[in-house]
Amino acid sequence: MTDHAFDTLQIHAGAEPDPATGALQVPIYQTTAYAFKDADHAARLFNLQEVGYIYSRLTNPTISALASRMAALEGGAGAICCSSGHAAQIMALFPLMMPGCNVIASTRLYGGTITQFSQTFKRFGWSAKFVDFDDEAALKAAIDDNTRAIFCELISNPGGYITDIPAVAKIADAAGVPLIVDNTLATPYLCRPIELGATLVVHSATKYLTGNGTVTGGVVVDSGKFDWSASDKFPSLSAPEPAYHGLKFHEALGAMAFTFHSIAIGLRDLGMTMNPQGAHYTLMGIETLSLRMEKHLANAKAVSEWLEADPRVDFVTYAGLPSSPWNKRVATVCPKGAGALFTVGVKGGYDACVKLVNNLKLFSHVANLGDARSLIIHSASTTHRQLSEEQQKAAGAAPNVVRLSIGTENADDLIADLDQALTAATA
Ligand SMILES: *Cc1c(COP(=O)(O)O)cnc(C)c1O
Repeated sequence: MTDHAFDTLQIHAGAEPDPATGALQVPIYQTTAYAFKDADHAARLFNLQEVGYIYSRLTNPTISALASRMAALEGGAGAICCSSGHAAQIMALFPLMMPGCNVIASTRLYGGTITQFSQTFKRFGWSAKFVDFDDEAALKAAIDDNTRAIFCELISNPGGYITDIPAVAKIADAAGVPLIVDNTLATPYLCRPIELGATLVVHSATKYLTGNGTVTGGVVVDSGKFDWSASDKFPSLSAPEPAYHGLKFHEALGAMAFTFHSIAIGLRDLGMTMNPQGAHYTLMGIETLSLRMEKHLANAKAVSEWLEADPRVDFVTYAGLPSSPWNKRVATVCPKGAGALFTVGVKGGYDACVKLVNNLKLFSHVANLGDARSLIIHSASTTHRQLSEEQQKAAGAAPNVVRLSIGTENADDLIADLDQALTAATA
């Protein structure tokens, strides 16, 4: 299956006709438990000697189909589906971290991720150091003996900037720590970070994967390529794991060590499990991922070019525009295109942004992105509200900036809507 093209994999990977009924679409297995054949079968499942279904906090056939499809689309060894994108981030870090350990994170991240990393991590005894990932010297200098991961977004929220993944991967490699890439905004259709050197890929399935704002979900994909035993930094994977009767996951499971650890311990003890219905909707969304992304790209190009030429606009951050300092990276990191999320600096500042948002009719004012519908948000008064103005600016969410998520409607209709709302906002 994995030698097929993306358009084929997005429909077929992970989905065989249902063995019980022949159902062609993946059924929603709305069940908590699975009958064991006998006591010996149950014991073998609990010992990981046989792969099968035990309890839906751990695994479920609908969710397994989505995990297999995502592993195929990202070119990974395995995947774990989670209850949200934020859950996926915790699940990606959980096998790697201990109290006292740190993550080196890009300053250009989704606002909720900055809050999760800078505030909530402290409760676990973890910490995050935020660095401008375009400053390679600063990135190298930030890594220390307690660093267990490097984390960035490939296309970053909200500015749509592009991270130089091959350069960051080289630094992570030299330091012997895994690179975790949030690929939510690019999706595996635009870029497969594992091919550029990432160890783990995380997604908010809430966004483009489902594509219509019906699901809250997340996914972690493991490349299967990191040597967890090369140092003593990752004892959960390389040494006897006390939380699983002393199993040495890397020795016993090789490339699937991270995936099995995440299910057997991560989902078991943290319980950040996706639900079967959410997995089903996400599978249906992924069937059209490449088609939708092409339309998102074409619309983002048309709308960003129109906005950049408009005198009521100060700047547009879309990396697909030749004026963007990140435009050169489109060719090396995500050659199909720079996604469909960017920010716009509006003349008239904070007040004009608020009026713009209030006057749009087709664009919805919501805290989401990656929907078939075009969306707008004034980040400084919403998603990035918890941050200081300094952090807002560093994250690309200054008070005079709105974030657009360009949907799959007709581009002329979107431009007409922006035109009338900008008139009202800057009158
Ligand atoms: C939305 C988002 C998240 C968080 O995902 P949830 O599903 O909302 O928990 C993480 N990273 C990026 C880039 C996002 O856009």
